[in-house]
Amino acid sequence: MKKIGALFVAVSLLFVLITTSVFALMPLANGEYESDMLVLGSQSLPAIVIYADTPNTTDGVRGLYVLEELGDSLLTAAIQEFSSFPVTLLDSATATYNCHWYAWCRPSAPDLHLWVDDPSMFYKDGSYCEVSTPQVGDIICYFDDKGTATTSDDFNVHSGVVTAVSNGNSNGLCGNSDLVTVTSKWGYGGLYSHNGYVCPYTSYYSTGEADYVKYYRLHSVNYTDLGLLEGHRGVCYGCGYYVEEGHDWSEMASFYMCRKCGHKSSHIPVAPNNIPEDILLKIQQKATLNEFAIDVDENTVLCYIDGQYYMVKGHTTDNALSYIKSASVVK
Ligand SMILES: [Zn+2]
Ligand SMILES: [Zn+2]
Repeated sequence: MKKIGALFVAVSLLFVLITTSVFALMPLANGEYESDMLVLGSQSLPAIVIYADTPNTTDGVRGLYVLEELGDSLLTAAIQEFSSFPVTLLDSATATYNCHWYAWCRPSAPDLHLWVDDPSMFYKDGSYCEVSTPQVGDIICYFDDKGTATTSDDFNVHSGVVTAVSNGNSNGLCGNSDLVTVTSKWGYGGLYSHNGYVCPYTSYYSTGEADYVKYYRLHSVNYTDLGLLEGHRGVCYGCGYYVEEGHDWSEMASFYMCRKCGHKSSHIPVAPNNIPEDILLKIQQKATLNEFAIDVDENTVLCYIDGQYYMVKGHTTDNALSYIKSASVVK
C-alpha cells in the first residue's frame, strides 16, 4: 500500500513539474533531491525541497512538497478545533499546503501544493508593494509586534487573500483586519472564508501572536509613451511609484523598441557617451560639420543634426539625414 502511495506521489509530482515552470527542484551534488521533514508538533512528514519563483526572483522561496499526509484523526481534530468560529469552511484540512503557499504561490502554480514558511521574498524583492487601502485580491499579512522600536524583526505569522472590503470604523484590535473578508488556510487545518479579525492568528480574538496587518499588491507599473525624445511615464497604482525617464531601447533588426512602453522607431536619440568607440574616431573627422551621417553597420547609420545624435535603421548615409529632418519623424 505504501509503495503504491509513494508511486502515486512521484507520478503526480512529475506531472506538476512538467506542467509548471515557476519553481525548481535543486539536485544536490550527489544527484539526489534535497529532502526535509515537515514538523508539525509531534508529527514529522517526509518532504522534498522545492524553490518557488516570485515575479522578480527565480527560486526565491523555499517550500516543502509533502510526501505523506497527516493522519485522519489529526485532520479531523483540526477542523473540530475551530467549529465554534463564525467562519465558512471552503476546503478540508491537509498538511500538503499552508497559508503562505495559498496566498503567494498558488496564483502562479495552483497544482503544486507546498508548505512555505517564509514568503517575505515576494515583498522584499519588489514583486509586491505594500498598500495602505486594501482591495479585493490584495494579500493580507498578519504580523506580530516584538515590542521593539523597529518593525524589521516582526514576523509574518499568517497570509490570506482579501475577498471583500467593507467601510466603517475598525475595531483597531489587529490593524483594520475586521474590515476585510479573507480566504486563508489555517495551518494544517481547513481553508476558510472569514472576517479578517476572526481567525486563530489575532491576539485578542484568539490566542495568536498577530497585532497588526499589512496589505500587499502585485507591483505593476503602467507605462505611457510620451514621445520619442520625451521618453515615458511609469505609474504603479498600488504603491504610488512614479517615474518619467528616457526609453529603454532594445535593438531589433530593422527598428528600435522601448522595452517598457513599446514605443517603436526606426531611429533613436543617442547620447554622445553612448556612441561606440570605433565610431567616435570617424566623428572626429566630421567635427567641423553641422550635420553628417556615418555608417555604423550594414543597416544602421549614425546621424548628427541640430546638436543631437541619432541611430537610424533602414536608411543609408545618403537619405538618413533627410529622413530625420522630415517633420513627421521627430515628435
Ligand atoms: Zn507598486
Ligand atoms: Zn518607453
